[in-house]
Amino acid sequence: THFGYKTVPEEMKEALVRNVFSSVASNYDVMNDAMSMGIHRIWKDHFIRKMAPTPGAKLLDVAGGTGDIAQRFLEYQDNINGDSSSTVHMVDINPDMLREGERRFVGSEWQQHNRIGFTVGNAEKLDFVEDNSFDVYTIAFGIRNCTHPEKVVQEAFRVLKPGGRFMCLEFSRVDNPMLAAIYDLHSFYVIPKLGELIANDRESYEYLVESIRKFPPQDKFAQIIRDAGFTTIGKGYENMTFGTVAIHSGYKF
Ligand code: SAM
Repeated sequence: THFGYKTVPEEMKEALVRNVFSSVASNYDVMNDAMSMGIHRIWKDHFIRKMAPTPGAKLLDVAGGTGDIAQRFLEYQDNINGDSSSTVHMVDINPDMLREGERRFVGSEWQQHNRIGFTVGNAEKLDFVEDNSFDVYTIAFGIRNCTHPEKVVQEAFRVLKPGGRFMCLEFSRVDNPMLAAIYDLHSFYVIPKLGELIANDRESYEYLVESIRKFPPQDKFAQIIRDAGFTTIGKGYENMTFGTVAIHSGYKF
């Protein structure tokens, strides 16, 4: 252990991730606000604006968790496009997280009009999803938790329609050394402490910090996306908040 930094053998990662998210599910939304000082809302809003979905779009939101992306997508379709035919299907490996997501939509117009669905499943093997069936695929703060990110991207390619778009929102590498030092302090001291104080679960939040460190940096991940068959525009990603997070995107042509 070094600053709470632990290494997890690959074969144990899936089980560990399951436990982490079962443990954080009920505090997840509060913790997101606390750890990011509310900034995750801005990142997610920007992510949807960048998607600029067309009316009627079918979205597959993988690692959808408590439903932040699904909800923003449906709000965008209602408010910006005046569209009430688009749908979103959420997939998450963790039933506890997905249940928190379902709770959010109970009794909503969206649920009444069958515009939202939920399936427990692994991003690496979406065998319940047909080939070429979605217009947009999103994965927000989820792919770094997967054991084989390249399999996730390959599955995304399979399930998207020709012309469909893959979009990933994920923590990435801070580009400025000064800011990187501050970010490290936040990661190694503030986040585990908040986990301890708010969620009474320091370990899970240590894992989250570690998973961010281990995920490939911007350019390397963009290459993984191209290797799966996607076409990227320019370098294939946009940094936000100095690279704390990045949006990667690719088209299936
Ligand atoms: N997308 C949501 C958001 O932005 O708030 C939730 C993000 S949360 C940090 C990560 C989610 O990924 C958790 O709900 C977790 O259960 C899910 N997850 C982890 N590994 C997964 C996998 N292999 N397949 C599908 N979901 C996975």
